[in-house]
Amino acid sequence: MGQLEEVACDACGSKQVQMVVIRADDLRVVECASCGLAFINPRPKKEHLSKFYGESYFVGSDDAKDTGIGYNSYATFAIPWLKLRKSWELEKIQQLMPLKGSRLLEIGCATGELLALAHSRGALTMGVEISEYAAQVAKERYGLEVRVGDLEHLDIPAESFDIILALEVIEHVLSPRAFLKEIALFLAPGGLVVLSTPNYACGRQLKEEWLGFRTSFEHLYFFTPEVLVHMAGSEGLDLLYWATAGSGKAAPLQTRKKMKAWLQKIPGGVVLGQMVKLFKDLTAKDPWVKFGQGHRLLAFFKSRGQGNDLVFDNP
Ligand SMILES: [Zn+2]
Repeated sequence: MGQLEEVACDACGSKQVQMVVIRADDLRVVECASCGLAFINPRPKKEHLSKFYGESYFVGSDDAKDTGIGYNSYATFAIPWLKLRKSWELEKIQQLMPLKGSRLLEIGCATGELLALAHSRGALTMGVEISEYAAQVAKERYGLEVRVGDLEHLDIPAESFDIILALEVIEHVLSPRAFLKEIALFLAPGGLVVLSTPNYACGRQLKEEWLGFRTSFEHLYFFTPEVLVHMAGSEGLDLLYWATAGSGKAAPLQTRKKMKAWLQKIPGGVVLGQMVKLFKDLTAKDPWVKFGQGHRLLAFFKSRGQGNDLVFDNP
């Protein structure tokens, strides 16, 4: 237990928590009794967390499959498919602000697919990525500018970006409050922030059955839309719009085990499984529901101050 540490609520500092669930990795998810932010407590110490994000996190390994951490073959198989993907996030951004000529930062850009798509539409892009391996892939494959490290250690002047994207990142960081503060600092007045994260409102309903508690054990925080909006608001980021997608219901363990065993028996089975999943994603109709109860939460914020007056005409 020397590898774990107790933490207070990152949003409000309270130590009064309610038990939510014990994840399959034996860590406890608790909810702040005061503000509703849910988090892992006690949690692995910082030095143990950084080990999650090596090469195996992105290319998959037997370890990754078995521990529920990381993306199976994210870089290896997903590329040609993801690159072709029409990005709903970018479509929405373009309703608010032209990508062409906008200074766009993606935090946690992984192997760079979305950033490359934004770049191809004329955005002046920069990526930040904690994994040296993933950043290298993004640089070599797409010629992108990607900095390796944490946001707080970047030597970038304040107000450097018109658009900041952090998709599926905030649930990983040690302090979401500090993370939002950094984002607000780097954003130009009137700039746009796009965040996505698993929707804990969905998790509250599904409890142990929620995908968010069954996989991705590197996640430290779980946000309802209300908590995320409140925390962002405290740092000067005002909500424009949020939407959710997906059911978030994990397939029963037996079904997943059977599926895995079946895929392992046929040559190239794992690749086939990946392709089926990606094909489903690509052919799905726009699954986003404004203010829905779905699993994936996507939220758009604007920074206060003079600048573009961002309003969705038809969200
Ligand atoms: Zn709290």
